[in-house]
Amino acid sequence: MKRRHFISNTAKSTGGVIVASSLTTLGLFSGSSSRAGEKRGLGVALVGLGSYATGQLAPALQMTENCYLAGIVTGTPSKADSWSDQYDIPAENVYNYQNFDGIADNDDIDIVYIVLPNSMHAEFVIRAAQAGKHVICEKPMATNYEDCQRMIDACRKAEKKLSIGYRLHFEPYNLEAMRLGQQQIYGKVLESDAGFAFPLRDKSRWRLDKEMAGGGPLMDVGIYAIQSTIYTRGQLPVSLEAMDTTVDKAFYGAVEGTLDVKFEFPAGIKATMRTSYEESSNYLKVQAQEGSWELAPAYSYGGLKGQTHLGPMSFPAVNQQALQMDDFASCILKDKQSIVRGEMGQRDMFIIDKIYESAAIGKPVSLKGIPNILHLV
Ligand code: NAD
Repeated sequence: MKRRHFISNTAKSTGGVIVASSLTTLGLFSGSSSRAGEKRGLGVALVGLGSYATGQLAPALQMTENCYLAGIVTGTPSKADSWSDQYDIPAENVYNYQNFDGIADNDDIDIVYIVLPNSMHAEFVIRAAQAGKHVICEKPMATNYEDCQRMIDACRKAEKKLSIGYRLHFEPYNLEAMRLGQQQIYGKVLESDAGFAFPLRDKSRWRLDKEMAGGGPLMDVGIYAIQSTIYTRGQLPVSLEAMDTTVDKAFYGAVEGTLDVKFEFPAGIKATMRTSYEESSNYLKVQAQEGSWELAPAYSYGGLKGQTHLGPMSFPAVNQQALQMDDFASCILKDKQSIVRGEMGQRDMFIIDKIYESAAIGKPVSLKGIPNILHLV
């Protein structure tokens, strides 16, 4: 399907008008409507054409206003052909992993978006920065804290911006959870519980390979629960205690199957989270002094629901990825810092490293030295 047909069909089937007006409501939308087949703002090249790039990012790039899908990087020649055809991508904007560095000479590409398995993020973010491009890197930023530092350093040296694909910072229900907690609308947050889990039992998937994924569900979906625990408060935890509660240890082997974490925030305030490849969950529950709120599902691409102690929340559906990418393009155009910058990904990797350390030694660990990065609303 060519791009103009795709846009027309998407607008008919998913309510493109609603998406566009929601973007305007959130103040993240420049206002003029998309013109199929034309360049819109900054050019984005997607690196790694797997399920997330195919199912979410490329479609979202048909709805963005400040950026558009200008190029692709893939190791699979058949994908190069089908994507070029579907999205009108010229042959000179199609790269593979070997000739990728030549992107330095391509003025059509302003932003490189890394959507590869986790262990490949560091190498490709650094190569993109060295090619003189701004970079979006999917979560988790890397597989360890030191790699995050190398990625940040490379982007700083190249004077290019780096952001992480934390789409929920642009999603109205999660923004409302931030507002209620951070602005203490119902008093101080007393406790919270977050969970994100889905069953995964296919050993052929890189997500179950410790080398490629860096860990198990914590790296993949638990990171969203870490995020919501923090952005609900606008505060950093001071310590944590983690427990590997995997049921089928023989199957999951080197990666955790299930993990439970208790966080401590200043003034002794506690939070819990759980992530797993052995069950399903998708929620955030918060208890404050004078009220409570809950999101469930909390972290999906769409269909989110929320309620407070007073009743249901109601917000328009948005395309999270379109908002996220438009915001990054806008940050580049206005030379502003992204609310989900590389340092936030590094902060979360600091926490993830400490979670694995605590689970390994069976004791609480301090989070002294955690990067002081927050998105305050
Ligand atoms: P996927 O397995 O569907 O796609 C990975 C892509 O990388 C494939 O195109 C594959 O061909 C390519 N690849 C290149 N070298 C590879 C190698 N050595 N081994 C395996 N694949 C290789 O994965 P995905 O679900 O698209 O996830 C990609 C990244 O995006 C991950 O970091 C993941 O955490 C992230 N992600 C983020 C979200 C989100 O909501 N922000 C959602 C899904 C995935």
